Amino acid sequence: MIRTAILSSLALASLVACTTGSQPPVSVDQYVEDARRIAGEDLKFLMPVCNPQPAVRAAPSAAMDESLAKLINQPPPAPGQAFDNLYYVGATWVSAWVLKTSEGLILIDALNNKKEAADLIEGGMRRLGLDPAQIRYVLVTHGHGDHYGGAQMIAERYGARVVASEIDWKMMETGLEFDSKMWDRPPQRDIAIKDGDTLTLGDTTVRFVITPGHTLGTISPVFDVRDGGRVHKAMIWGGTSFNFGRDMLRLDGYIAQTERMRELSARWGIDVPLSNHPGFDGTVAKLKARASAPAGTNPFVSGQPVVDRAMRVLNTCARAQKARFLLMAGGEGGDVYAATTGLTGPAAAHAEDEHVTAGMQALANNHAAAPLAFPYSPYAGAHTGSMARSEH
Ligand SMILES: [Zn+2]
Repeated sequence: MIRTAILSSLALASLVACTTGSQPPVSVDQYVEDARRIAGEDLKFLMPVCNPQPAVRAAPSAAMDESLAKLINQPPPAPGQAFDNLYYVGATWVSAWVLKTSEGLILIDALNNKKEAADLIEGGMRRLGLDPAQIRYVLVTHGHGDHYGGAQMIAERYGARVVASEIDWKMMETGLEFDSKMWDRPPQRDIAIKDGDTLTLGDTTVRFVITPGHTLGTISPVFDVRDGGRVHKAMIWGGTSFNFGRDMLRLDGYIAQTERMRELSARWGIDVPLSNHPGFDGTVAKLKARASAPAGTNPFVSGQPVVDRAMRVLNTCARAQKARFLLMAGGEGGDVYAATTGLTGPAAAHAEDEHVTAGMQALANNHAAAPLAFPYSPYAGAHTGSMARSEH
């Protein structure tokens, strides 16, 4: 996650309000207020997603390295156990989860670099009584350095296979969306998965749902977690922030995928919403709470209605961001934005785009406009066996 938001929500909202005049009632404020209402108290940690995002993706720079270094250098939380078969060995800013199976471990994300992977993943696992040599797979939820940075080291050291989506492998090989010297190089291409694929290791199956938006190949994995005799279903939302610039197709994708995940979570009974950034699911507080929770209760088990609300919050924030970009494309908003931020070009350049016109129309017609069509494959059912450990 790269934060380069320059304006506060309030500041941008008032700028937009000053410049919309007689335009259709596209209200950024209304979306943000809706999101806040849906989030309530228990999901308020999702509200930063509603903050205004810049129209241009951050380019590699010393300033970006410096802000990443600050995020990375925060003192880490203690590693901990969320379920009988799920452990947290991540940092304060970005997560690493370990899923324990009857035939070894699946590491979900590998932090920013080798050093962090050694200190927090290997170190944390040892503190929790887990042997890093048992890592069989490293799942990279999406192709940004804070998730893949330590993957190659873990793969080489323990012979673990690295899993990512075909789309994000291609991105990591041919053109990183973000780069920073704080990140180690992407792992070498290994197992490529697509939407609906599953990975089975021993008694555990991970189902991969591709939720394009944050990156075009973001994976949101779904798997069972156990607490005492109870089995629950967890889902890690694989990419959260809108840090891709003024890309309406991605925002439409994000809107569509949060809706799709609402359907899937109802169908599958997903009751444990997790993130790959601890700030977006309250990981650290929940780990602490679990340590002293009464038997039979687990703070990570939020229930399916909360998963549904979490997806609605993200969905509504995506609509707010889309509305902001549409207002900028309208001319005055764009000028104000450019004058205030120093960014130039994108708003005016896209003012005549067909999807902008269509989006404006849809928003004018319907506050809760259906997302524009996005090319994702309908969920086609699981298939197993393609990822047997002997496969190369
Ligand atoms: Zn990311």
